[in-house]
Amino acid sequence: MARHGRQHIEQHESDGNAVVASAIDLVKTYGADDAQVRALDHLSVDFARGEMTAIMGPSGSGKSTLMHCMAGLDQPTSGKVMVEGLEVSSMNQRQLTRFRREQIGFIFQSFNLVPTLSAEENILLPLQIAKKPIDRAWFDKVVSVVGLQQRLSHRPSQLSGGQQQRVALARALVVEPGVLLFDEPLSNLDAKLRVSMRTEIRRIQQEVGITAIYVTHDQSEAMALSDQIIIMNKGVVAQIGTPQEIYFHPVSEFVADFIGEANFLRGKVLALEGNTATLAIEGETAHVEATRPVSVGEEVTMVLRPESATLTEDRGLPCKVEVSCFMGSYQNYHVRVGETLVKLTEYNPKNKRIFAQGENCFVHFDANATHIL
Ligand code: ADP
Repeated sequence: MARHGRQHIEQHESDGNAVVASAIDLVKTYGADDAQVRALDHLSVDFARGEMTAIMGPSGSGKSTLMHCMAGLDQPTSGKVMVEGLEVSSMNQRQLTRFRREQIGFIFQSFNLVPTLSAEENILLPLQIAKKPIDRAWFDKVVSVVGLQQRLSHRPSQLSGGQQQRVALARALVVEPGVLLFDEPLSNLDAKLRVSMRTEIRRIQQEVGITAIYVTHDQSEAMALSDQIIIMNKGVVAQIGTPQEIYFHPVSEFVADFIGEANFLRGKVLALEGNTATLAIEGETAHVEATRPVSVGEEVTMVLRPESATLTEDRGLPCKVEVSCFMGSYQNYHVRVGETLVKLTEYNPKNKRIFAQGENCFVHFDANATHIL
């Protein structure tokens, strides 16, 4: 049943975007008819071989339910889960146990290492449980990729938090699973270690070429380590795309607000010339690249990221500075454009004109620095 990690690497090289795992029209309801909760609502997503997918969404949006269904820990009410050509959603208990042991690697925030065993014994434990032989070449590769060669005889108490996480990662990889599932793995670590471990996890995932799904609350983590991000809301996919697509071209206010900071300016299309729309915003006009078809007279919402605009003395939308705050690497502004509060981030403020609270000035942005929803 198991397909091996090194096959993944070979196939990854030959057919980089082949789908390894899919959720197909997945519905999961909990509770009786009169108090039913629909945790997943006809959700379909694909996970491509060798790619890391980050799943984000507010609490209760269905992230854990999706992970549990993918891992065969929970059965969907309807729809299918496919992993490596196997229909997980129709397996019996015996098949599920084997599937979870051989096809899925789990990484949680608690490392769950056995304190009395060495790092090496902990890593090999899943093979012992599955009564599978040790493939020394694969073991050596995994240990070397996670950087534990010098620590194999140490017990968990003799290892740092980051090293214990590496043991947990190696233990998940040793069975050569089809998919690696990360459930908020870094939330117990301090801020600095989180940042270095996320880079490490990304490097290891890419070096092994394994398909991974990563649930996180942390948007910088999601952007830093994934090929694709899925934003979930109320059991459905709000948007799926590369980190850049999600950040620069959010499809809704919900997504724009969820990933990064966003200003929303309401306007009416006054004129269209090629790709550029002239909008009436708060009684003034601004040119904006139409990232979707719009028509003259249409009321639209424009997304402006805080770093996409600057304050000027003479061009743009007139505004009044309400907050001007030095933050070291950037100046943080809150300005009022008509009725709308706009937050701006001016990076590298050292050599720039700084506007003080109470000043009247202008918000300037390039037409292609914004996005029409
Ligand atoms: P997330 O991981 O995004 O926080 P979950 O998948 O845990 O969301 O939950 C999605 C919805 O399903 C929520 O409304 C939650 O209360 C409900 N839910 C999850 N698990 C159960 C369960 N075992 N019994 C009843 N309701 C559940």
